[in-house]
Amino acid sequence: MIGMPAGYPAGMPIFVVQRHDASRLHFDLRLEIDGVLVSWAVPKGPSLDPRDKRLAVFTEDHSLAYATFEGAIDGSYGAGTVIVWDTGEFENVTSTKGRPVPAGDALAGGHLRLLLHGHRLTGGFALTRTNMSGDDRNWILVKIDDDGADRRRRPATTELTSVLSGRTNADFENR
Ligand code: MN
Repeated sequence: MIGMPAGYPAGMPIFVVQRHDASRLHFDLRLEIDGVLVSWAVPKGPSLDPRDKRLAVFTEDHSLAYATFEGAIDGSYGAGTVIVWDTGEFENVTSTKGRPVPAGDALAGGHLRLLLHGHRLTGGFALTRTNMSGDDRNWILVKIDDDGADRRRRPATTELTSVLSGRTNADFENR
């Protein structure tokens, strides 16, 4: 595996956040659940500040192989460039009434609690389905207030390189 943090048990699912410089810049958060990358588009990117609620729009699943994709996408839909802005393993720590909830059930139920073991994103995050604007594809992503929280760092706006290759989106632009 490329770029995965060492020291976690084998077999933990992975997450990836791809910075996608399309017609509108966004960050695609993808979680390995039941053999696919379940995906959300986060326009402002993840925040480390627990006070921030970041819109995360549910989008189509991607194959696991896409987790390390970087490059240019042609065509009309999603045209632009993609880098792996963060990746690592994650733990599903969703529970209800003290009992663990499998990730697929948590997804269906509209609430996931995650522990991320990434390069830039660490610790707890909550993903919750809302009905904002009458659209149940609209979820919110919030940092849990733990050791991975940081009210000053703004990685989505200040850290622009791939954690896998060190490249930026601009490095993949057609010239
Ligand atoms: Mn995208």
